[in-house]
Amino acid sequence: MQSKILNGKAVATAIENDVRNKVFDFKNNYNEEITLATILVGNDKASKTYVKMKSKACLRVGIKTREFVLPTITTESLIQIIETLNEDQEINGILIQHPLPKCIDEQKCFDKISAEKDVDGLSSHSFGKMTFGLEAFGAATPTGIMSILDFYNINVEGKKACVIGRSQILGKPIASMLLNRNATVTICHSKTKNLKAEIKSSDIVICAVGKPEFIKKDWIKEGAIVIDAGYNYVNGKSVGDAESPDGIASFYTPVPGGVGPVTIASLLSNTLEAAIKQKENIKQKSKQYIKGGK
Ligand code: NAP
Repeated sequence: MQSKILNGKAVATAIENDVRNKVFDFKNNYNEEITLATILVGNDKASKTYVKMKSKACLRVGIKTREFVLPTITTESLIQIIETLNEDQEINGILIQHPLPKCIDEQKCFDKISAEKDVDGLSSHSFGKMTFGLEAFGAATPTGIMSILDFYNINVEGKKACVIGRSQILGKPIASMLLNRNATVTICHSKTKNLKAEIKSSDIVICAVGKPEFIKKDWIKEGAIVIDAGYNYVNGKSVGDAESPDGIASFYTPVPGGVGPVTIASLLSNTLEAAIKQKENIKQKSKQYIKGGK
């Protein structure tokens, strides 16, 4: 079978161009900057790189960043920073780079981010609303995966989707997003029996395991769509969680150049949306105030 590559870089460029234009309009309309606060805790090399990539991407589209680099911190002190940023009118979005060091109660910190600034969609509140199909920021990587499917006009309705991985940031939210679009979703994890059979019977396979080339090419059904969110370094090369399904899949995302670039683009898009919504809320409130004063 002739496989088509789902080019994440092309999707990310299209999103970035759109965001850049809208950021320009926002600045003209409100005479204000859009600012994303990024919080990096600890010394994880990969996390440092990701935050740097996110800051650079912000710069490309005209979003300002305020960067917090904290070698060590307690949960309580981190919560204080988050609460200050929630109140700060100049901050439109808050990103806490995950994973946080083990000594910090990660979810407790994510949950302190106000819903309107939770642009990485990692709080229980955002996750719950998104799962219910209500308006909320989705986590960046699964949102990026949905953008890839939309960009290539891939309709998931009625298709059997298999998500391998059940993390809070990836496996669970992408399963909910696919379910909300009427796919029939199976979530697999380390205790799943007969993983190969689950994958073999699926029209869409989402790989989110964190193990290099763990999902084998011959587990994929002929004509399936394979989205590989995995990002692993092996011998200086980045590889996905699946072997390349070229020749078997109808469509697939490469690694690198697939899900990764779109994850960052989703964060930019969520930050812009947060800024616009915050302005709309202020307008709404002032209208109510005027009405109340009459
Ligand atoms: P994670 O938190 O480590 O979760 C891995 C999941 O895989 C867990 O649910 C685990 O099951 C499951 N798993 C482990 N071994 C398995 C097995 N033998 N069979 C079936 N399932 C198994 O990882 P994550 O944070 O979701 O990340 C997953 C991958 O996506 C990684 O490669 C990561 O680098 C990549 N990622 C990429 C981006 C991006 O921007 N491109 C962003 C985030 C993550 P249990 O729950 O049972 O342990």
